Amino acid sequence: MNQPQGQRSRKDLACTAAATAWQKAFAADLQRRVVVQGEPFVVAQADTPHEIFHAMDIPLVTNQWWSAYISAKQLSGPYVDAMTDAGYPENGCKYCSLGLACTLANDPRTAPWGGLPTPTLLVARLTCDCIQHVFGQWASALGTEFFPLEAPAWTRRDPEWFLRSNEHWEEVYEPERIALLVAEMRELITLLERRTGRRFDPARLQLLMERINEQEGYIAEISRMIGEARPCPVSIADQMPNTMIPQWHRGSEWAVAHARRFRDEVAARVAAGVGAAANERLRLMWIGAGVWHDPGFYQALEERLGAVFVWSMYLPFAGPQYIRAIRGRPMDALASRICSMNEVLHLPPWMNGWMVSEARRCGIDAAVILVPPDNRLSQSGTKLTRLALETAGVPVLALDADMVDAQNWNHDAMVASVADFLRGAGLA
Ligand code: SF4
Repeated sequence: MNQPQGQRSRKDLACTAAATAWQKAFAADLQRRVVVQGEPFVVAQADTPHEIFHAMDIPLVTNQWWSAYISAKQLSGPYVDAMTDAGYPENGCKYCSLGLACTLANDPRTAPWGGLPTPTLLVARLTCDCIQHVFGQWASALGTEFFPLEAPAWTRRDPEWFLRSNEHWEEVYEPERIALLVAEMRELITLLERRTGRRFDPARLQLLMERINEQEGYIAEISRMIGEARPCPVSIADQMPNTMIPQWHRGSEWAVAHARRFRDEVAARVAAGVGAAANERLRLMWIGAGVWHDPGFYQALEERLGAVFVWSMYLPFAGPQYIRAIRGRPMDALASRICSMNEVLHLPPWMNGWMVSEARRCGIDAAVILVPPDNRLSQSGTKLTRLALETAGVPVLALDADMVDAQNWNHDAMVASVADFLRGAGLA
């Protein structure tokens, strides 16, 4: 097993430290509420309607955040081994199941928070063949219940979904798919009210949805600036925390204020001509989840080759995927936000259509795609996206590596493979 050798990333924006400090305080408060005070809480996938839990003031642990948290603490190795020792296949996927691995390892000495206490509910959309098994078995191991949400097929194959998603969401995401998720969300609300004694307030959801539009509007402005400005004012090492930490708390006063602050800081850097790297020569696109065990990877070639990762899915996704004309139908608008959240990021033709458009918009010179070997969903659209980008004139490198499992990751070797690829493409 490789010794963990993830490297920290450099943070250029003052608001980044504020976001990570806020999330740390939030995690400590969440731990106090659920571990010490025994408040009811939910564990849910990133592509589920968090707005329901927020509108009911039910604390939420997002599975992908928990998995990245474990990975950033360089704990994935022993937990993956614990899964294998428990009889799970070595090539089982990791991103969604690292939380389960932590629970099965049952080692409070090393586990964050001493391990998760029993949640009221686990919630996930059935977006791949594995998820019901991961969440079903995790629910039994934790002594709680799994509430699955369907992921019905999306028959409208519009590679330019992002041009119409804000206003024409019913047409883009299909009325039947939206109606199904609204019905499931109503079922979920009834169950949560029964289990927690908390009441769902539709007016609170309406307010949340309005605030989320404001928040994501600021992030969409930043995305436009990143596409147009030379040099790029903010690399993905700053983009990810400043986008995703508010995303976990979307619509809260803090999240809206932080998105505005982030926008203002980026705008000031653009006005001053400040770049993420001193000598930006190559604009790179990172496709896939973050490499949570080695955030320093993205900046490793800035100095040597002037190669800057200016694009990753998290920030530019905010505008087309989250902003919705509500028109007095907050539940339907919310369902349209959630019902294709994974599809547009991982499945053709929606994934490649958007990424080719983004590569053109941001003046991308080359792309690097993360292809996690054991992760079915995340690799689904990678080959067609690679083909589409190459056809559009963007050279692509596929990296066989996992976003949370560091066992087969070697920082220097991965950086060298990107450098060789750029030289091989005649770009460096
Ligand atoms: S294949 Fe991917 S999406 Fe499915 S459970 Fe595994 S990690 Fe999650």
